[in-house]
Amino acid sequence: MASCRRRPRSRCLIISPRARSRWCAWAMRVTPTLTPTSSSRTGPARRFLSRWPPGFRGGTSRLPRHSRPIRSTPMPELAEVEVARRNVERWWQHRCAREVRLIDPKVLRDATPRELEDALGRRLVAMHRRGKYLWAELEGGFALMFHFRMTGKITCEDSPEPRFARLAWRIDEAGWLVFKDPRRLGHVEVLGPGELDHYDALQRMGPEPEDATAAGLKAACSARRLLKSALLDQSVVAGVGNIAISELFWRLKLPVEVRCGELDDAQWEALAKEMPRYFDQILQRSMADEIAYLNEAGGDNIFEVYGREGEPCPRCQAPLKVARVAGRSSYYCPTCQGEP
Ligand SMILES: [Zn+2]
Repeated sequence: MASCRRRPRSRCLIISPRARSRWCAWAMRVTPTLTPTSSSRTGPARRFLSRWPPGFRGGTSRLPRHSRPIRSTPMPELAEVEVARRNVERWWQHRCAREVRLIDPKVLRDATPRELEDALGRRLVAMHRRGKYLWAELEGGFALMFHFRMTGKITCEDSPEPRFARLAWRIDEAGWLVFKDPRRLGHVEVLGPGELDHYDALQRMGPEPEDATAAGLKAACSARRLLKSALLDQSVVAGVGNIAISELFWRLKLPVEVRCGELDDAQWEALAKEMPRYFDQILQRSMADEIAYLNEAGGDNIFEVYGREGEPCPRCQAPLKVARVAGRSSYYCPTCQGEP
């Protein structure tokens, strides 16, 4: 933390070192950092009915602090984020928001409500996904980055404030696009022109599974490292998560604690080939208007071994087991993959 540049003698502190403005929250509140861009917008006049709660603090009390206990809630993985990308692009099309409602201001990261409203007032150019990151590219070089964390999702609704809604924006002909998040761990970032080019996580990210090669994977992994840890590292390959690893290891009959140096060239080839095939299949099974996370009500388990401890292995019928590897649950078949 550093002192506020505008009020150096005050006790105000910059609330976030990552904030685009180096001013404190007080300064940002009285002096919006963006100039109005209405002249750059096209289309009929828009009518915003933004409802900023007083002091940007209200509106959260009706959201439950704790949702029901969730057993080992998986993070959204590549396929779920890709489903969201396709849905949101289809709903949003190339329009701008007519109304914006910030229901829970804490969903905003390093941005003011004014900046959010300004960004959503711009036309959507395209929705993009890279690994597990999803962002909306907007006119004028702006972008909205969505972080779903554990339970976040975007749905299309008739009303702006369904249960767990944190942010909603209305799109003509589609309805309300609502960022819902029961556990309130997700957030939305507003990025100005050029900021995406310097977005650390995207800069460091490895190839998408469909672009990963056996040689590239092998070169990116040190021999003594657990293969699971290496694949969870987004700089090795993008978007692979804990669920995908259980499924891939089972498909390839790899022991859950196998180290990178123990794989032969044929196994690296098989891994590089199986990853895109796995994600394609999961994507086909996951396509729906709403992402259903595995442990939420109505969420089906579409996986072959993940979350199926005690159930028969689909290949050899031996009861599946679960072990903790690299700090995360690994589901495996003791007969097909061996015991750790
Ligand atoms: Zn088996």
